[in-house]
Amino acid sequence: MGIYETLKSTASVLREADKIEQYRQILDAMEKLLELQNKLTELGKECKLLKEKLKIKDDLTVSNNGYWLKSNKDGPFCTRCWDKNKDLIRLKNENPYYKCPECANSYEGPNIESYRQELANLNRRGPSY
Ligand SMILES: [Zn+2]
Repeated sequence: MGIYETLKSTASVLREADKIEQYRQILDAMEKLLELQNKLTELGKECKLLKEKLKIKDDLTVSNNGYWLKSNKDGPFCTRCWDKNKDLIRLKNENPYYKCPECANSYEGPNIESYRQELANLNRRGPSY
């Protein structure tokens, strides 16, 4: 028999014996037990989440202005969102920039140099009319 069932059974006996004060104490203990069980479940979920984030943290590396997962070379992810909130947000490729859909930060992508070169060439040639 679990502790909750034991308390429930004890409460029932006390109630039948008209031991109202002791009966209330058992009910209080049962309520506290439920609160603690709920808190434990909540902490378990939080612990699982933190373990997952710790695993991700150990797997992250910075390259080309974004975070990447070393294990499967997935990325890039927003450095700001991870550094600030530990949220792994995939950057959207808007060549030659990468944009974060969450915080709207933009990062230079790997094609930024050829893009700049193209712009410089256009400016050198002047307007075409
Ligand atoms: Zn972001």
